[in-house]
Amino acid sequence: MDRKTFVKTILATVPLTLTGMDLNTLNKMTEFLKNTPKMPVLFLGHGSPMNAIEENEFVQGFRNISSQIETPKAVIVISAHWETKGTQVTAMNNPATIHDFGGFPKELYEIQYPAPGKPQLAKEVKNMVKSTEVSLDEKWGLDHGAWSVIRHMYPKADIPVIQLSLDYNKNPQQHYDLAKELSELRYKGILIVGSGNLVHNLRMIHWQKLNENFGYDWANEANDKMKKFIMDTNHQALINFSKQGKAFELSIPTPEHYLPLLYALAMQEKKDEIRIFNDKPVGGSLTMTSVKIG
Ligand code: ZN
Repeated sequence: MDRKTFVKTILATVPLTLTGMDLNTLNKMTEFLKNTPKMPVLFLGHGSPMNAIEENEFVQGFRNISSQIETPKAVIVISAHWETKGTQVTAMNNPATIHDFGGFPKELYEIQYPAPGKPQLAKEVKNMVKSTEVSLDEKWGLDHGAWSVIRHMYPKADIPVIQLSLDYNKNPQQHYDLAKELSELRYKGILIVGSGNLVHNLRMIHWQKLNENFGYDWANEANDKMKKFIMDTNHQALINFSKQGKAFELSIPTPEHYLPLLYALAMQEKKDEIRIFNDKPVGGSLTMTSVKIG
């Protein structure tokens, strides 16, 4: 043993209190890596940003679901509203509340959701994903795909929240496979939330029926098929959404609101129960359908 190794070995056996770091600090640092009972995984249909401030059946659904889940140590959101080149994870201590929408009432722009970040978890996510490089982001924050729903679940903003981006160069199978690499976090007290919408075609919104639970036939058809695939654990059919015909094409004109579903499904285990909630169309071409796995 050379001198350097010897010194290192000795240092490793010295009580931590003598090295300047007390046990409490160390416990806090490693606590989130400890094993916990399995956490569920969620896909939440977020719909209009107005759901952030409105009181309606959907936000009641979000609240209700959080009351059925053990308080998580942290939340990871895969939001439809953060698409990047390469996969990124937010790694700042205090993520900003991003108001990434236009033309809404002033009240909505005034909302802040000051949940802390969790840089240590971001680094853990980076290390866990082997198939692709995950970069640590310091610039994003929490977009409305995250805070408009999470604020109903954890209104005190006292649970750390980080976001994982959607790499627009990955295909659906790659998104699904990447998510699988993070499955272990379910056993670390981390709540993983995909936030998007199963059916999401803003160009076809029926503005007069925006506040009605109205869905076009194709929207209802696609939503029903998606639910069946989800309940049957037919993930391959959902990954291959572009081959499911006209109703799916109209429902998923661009994939970003749909892909967060694949992240949630990828973490499903055999014995997990599946529960569908908030299962309603809005404004014709959008569905709020949400899924709790486990
Ligand atoms: Zn959205």
